[in-house]
Amino acid sequence: MLDYVGLEAELDDEERTIRDEAREFVDDEVRPIIADHYLEGTFPEELIPRMGELGFYAPNLEGYGLANVSETAYGLLMQELEAGDSGLRSMASVQGALVMYPIHAFGSEEQKERWLPAMGNGEAIGGFALTEPEHGSDAGGMETRAEREGDEYVLDGAKRWCTNSPIADVVIVWARDASAEDDPVRGFLVETDREGLEIDTIEGKLSLRASSSGEFTMDGVRIPEENVLPGVEGMKGPLSCLTQARYGIAWGAVGAARDCFEEAREYALDREQFGGPIARFQLQQEKLAEMASEITTSQLLVHRLAELKERGELRPQHVSMAKRNNVEMARDQSRIAREMLGGNGITAEYASMRHMANMETVYTYEGTHDIHTLILGQDLTGIQAFE
Ligand code: FAD
Repeated sequence: MLDYVGLEAELDDEERTIRDEAREFVDDEVRPIIADHYLEGTFPEELIPRMGELGFYAPNLEGYGLANVSETAYGLLMQELEAGDSGLRSMASVQGALVMYPIHAFGSEEQKERWLPAMGNGEAIGGFALTEPEHGSDAGGMETRAEREGDEYVLDGAKRWCTNSPIADVVIVWARDASAEDDPVRGFLVETDREGLEIDTIEGKLSLRASSSGEFTMDGVRIPEENVLPGVEGMKGPLSCLTQARYGIAWGAVGAARDCFEEAREYALDREQFGGPIARFQLQQEKLAEMASEITTSQLLVHRLAELKERGELRPQHVSMAKRNNVEMARDQSRIAREMLGGNGITAEYASMRHMANMETVYTYEGTHDIHTLILGQDLTGIQAFE
């Protein structure tokens, strides 16, 4: 596996074990089935409890049966899952960083006890509903409202692009609390069997096909007030979750790109044209050299991010830089790998084109490439250019 500047020699035993377990899981249990799921447009649901058994959901959190591993170990896990498929990493990212993290950080003791152990072992599945049909990048413009009635809240609105939601037990709905002054954004834990909640699967995706994506409307959905996350108000609630998930994405993109690189290198050494392997042509070597260099610089960035995160010095802007850089890198390099595979590269027998198509989603979700550019632009100049 590509590790050109020997970063993995610095890993401790726990980090190496998690990396190896995740790699073995992907090789033995994901690779044999993922292309079929991708073609069918289904998420391999049978892997959900197995991933729980292996401790793949929020292992970087502490307590409630969670492992409290290092941020490097967590990053390596995301990297190995995305080397399998972005759909798999997305499922684990949503469950761990977008649902378990806010419950852990902002939830009541009862909410933590109810959901964290069950989600940690894969018995319960969660979704994160921020995006709306009319509000994607400007999520703060959300129209979903929660109105207090006695000791209940009544939710009305629509959410779109909620990963896991068609198979979820609970979704965190971010909505404006219309009963409080200035309508602050708050997080509401909505069990998916509540009356008035209608979840549909989004069909016809040409990217992230091995992932369950949903949209739903809420028409007078009633939840008890104990389902509100008590510890946070305002957009910093959802945004702090996104920083956790984007950290995992920056690592994951490296895994997808590395998988493409390994596939292209092996193919170039095996495939013979004009009397020998295509790897002997300078044009093909230039592509491999570029891929290896780009992957290595992205690896350096995420390893540095892990150090900053451990020290409590990681800023959301650092994560924006890594998400923006590493996903663009994986998007570009997966296309080069696909090209090196010739005609065979357009089939599902090989992974590169699947990764390439997945990267269109990863480039767009969790803040589009443009939005991360604007975040960095603001950080570098002090001037916001969003509006
Ligand atoms: P828009 O915001 O409409 O953007 C369209 C284009 O305009 C983009 O190129 C964008 O970069 C550009 N643009 C927008 N604003 C500006 C600006 N100020 N300056 C310059 N350019 C701008 N959301 C969730 O809440 N939960 C999930 O689990 C989830 N999962 C997803 C899974 C998939 C497969 C996909 C595709 C999306 C998912 N999303 C999820 C939604 C995702 O986060 C949004 O798609 C994303 O934020 C972009 O919003 P949008 O699609 O509405 O695009």
